[in-house]
Amino acid sequence: MLSKSIGLYIHFPFCTKKCYYCDFYSITELNLIEKFTNSLLKEMDLRFANFKRPSLSSIFFGGGTPSLLNPKQMEKIFEKIYYYCDLDDNAEISVECNPNSADIENFKSYKSLGVNRLSIGVQSFNPEELKFLQRIHSPKEAIYALEQAVATFGNVNADFIYSVPGQTLSSLISTINTALSTGITHLSAYSLIFEEGTGLYNAMKMGRVRPAEDEDDANYYNILVELMHNAGFNHYEVSNYAKPGLECRHNLNYWHCGEYVAFGPSAHGYLNSFRYSNVRDLAKYTKIIDSGNMPQDYQEHIDLEKQIEERIFLELRADGFDLDNFCSEFEIQPKNEFFDYVKTLANGEFLLIDKPKLRLSDKGYYLCDEITINFLKLLNK
Ligand code: SF4
Repeated sequence: MLSKSIGLYIHFPFCTKKCYYCDFYSITELNLIEKFTNSLLKEMDLRFANFKRPSLSSIFFGGGTPSLLNPKQMEKIFEKIYYYCDLDDNAEISVECNPNSADIENFKSYKSLGVNRLSIGVQSFNPEELKFLQRIHSPKEAIYALEQAVATFGNVNADFIYSVPGQTLSSLISTINTALSTGITHLSAYSLIFEEGTGLYNAMKMGRVRPAEDEDDANYYNILVELMHNAGFNHYEVSNYAKPGLECRHNLNYWHCGEYVAFGPSAHGYLNSFRYSNVRDLAKYTKIIDSGNMPQDYQEHIDLEKQIEERIFLELRADGFDLDNFCSEFEIQPKNEFFDYVKTLANGEFLLIDKPKLRLSDKGYYLCDEITINFLKLLNK
């Protein structure tokens, strides 16, 4: 069925404590981790039963906090993956981790299983900002986690959030400089989002917190871009920066509409032109799997029109939209209006014409949503 390399994603649905702003599916009943692990192994048996043996370009353990998996549980999961799949040479194998669950012995055992990249949710090194975000680690614990991870894996990402109420430009600069001093190779930084259904969103609705002003948000973004460029990182997606050659392959596969198989409650996958997602509830997930069925509750065929939209939307926000490839694959001949718009963006330094790609500049990334909508309108005619 599948011959080219694909990605593999596992959603691990546990965290020690639920953060105020987070809308990812995770629960805090850590006593259920063993049960979840057994269901996950069964889901792999069910899903891989219909697969031609795939080769994996990347494996990504996301969540949740997958570093809560003990070495034995991790080993069982890897045994199952390697039973059903081959690995590309230099496949990227990432695990997400939180500073409070960073354990050097676990790191070493993950490494012996093939993990070669760690991603740590730091969010800030400012104690007040960590308190606002209801994170349970201290700045000191986060520095220790990053240093241990860099010493063990070499290739390490740190996640940050900016535009946190009460943040200042100097606290952001201090956070980013501290992160860079630990030797990380990749940094993701997202503007705080007030996601519906979260405690943070409810607090905003009740007037207890206010999102940052647009002007402040733009200033945070600009300083971040400058610091990361000065440190020799490539800005290769709206919110992501990497040392050259260490861009996250798992995410690049996603942004280039590549295929990936996904496991775990609420996990989303993309295979054979279908996007699917699993049920977002651990109890339902285990019950369905125990009855021998797939825990999937959503499937959508990505038809030609949607493929066109996704290609523009995803490639533009990442490391460049390949216009030639797009036009020949979808048999589209752009009108003059499109080329006029490209010229206007390039003249305004929002877009770089880096043949065969059209790449957003730092300024352009900040307006990515608006530019994407205009590309969609002008190329879909
Ligand atoms: S640790 Fe991460 S996944 Fe867990 S609740 Fe906090 S932000 Fe969400």
